[in-house]
Amino acid sequence: MKLYKVKKSNIDRKGHGLYAAKDIKAGTKIIDYVGKIITKKQTENSDKFDNSKPIYLFNLNSRYDLDGDVSWNTARLINHSCSNNCEYEGKGLKLWVSSVKEIKKGEELTCDYGFSYDSDYKQFPCKCKSKNCCGYIVRMESRWRINKKFKKSLSVNR
Ligand SMILES: [Zn+2]
Repeated sequence: MKLYKVKKSNIDRKGHGLYAAKDIKAGTKIIDYVGKIITKKQTENSDKFDNSKPIYLFNLNSRYDLDGDVSWNTARLINHSCSNNCEYEGKGLKLWVSSVKEIKKGEELTCDYGFSYDSDYKQFPCKCKSKNCCGYIVRMESRWRINKKFKKSLSVNR
């Protein structure tokens, strides 16, 4: 039995998301993240990655990227949340999504998209509605630049 279901998302109102089909323990591999393996040169030469953040583009190694923006990659439907319950993991040329905490049946599966903080971060508002939401899709390590409360929580964790 699959650990996930595709449903209309609560985060991305226009799109779909993945939901836990049953209770999932922390550290469980949930779904493979598949796509086309392309060279860095192809990434550089493609218009596709020019004007938008590379939501579906993953760095595999110094030579290759993975373009997950293909219809057969169900894992591309996973939305970003500032309080994510899953993360992307990889080894060699393989990527997958694993749970980072216990997830209850029916919860939406979410990852940290890992966008860096740069001048156009305001293009990507976050609608995750978690109490940790910084308002924009920016990786956890950079959220303090947007909201001071994250700086505080970082120092507490050290
Ligand atoms: Zn958020």
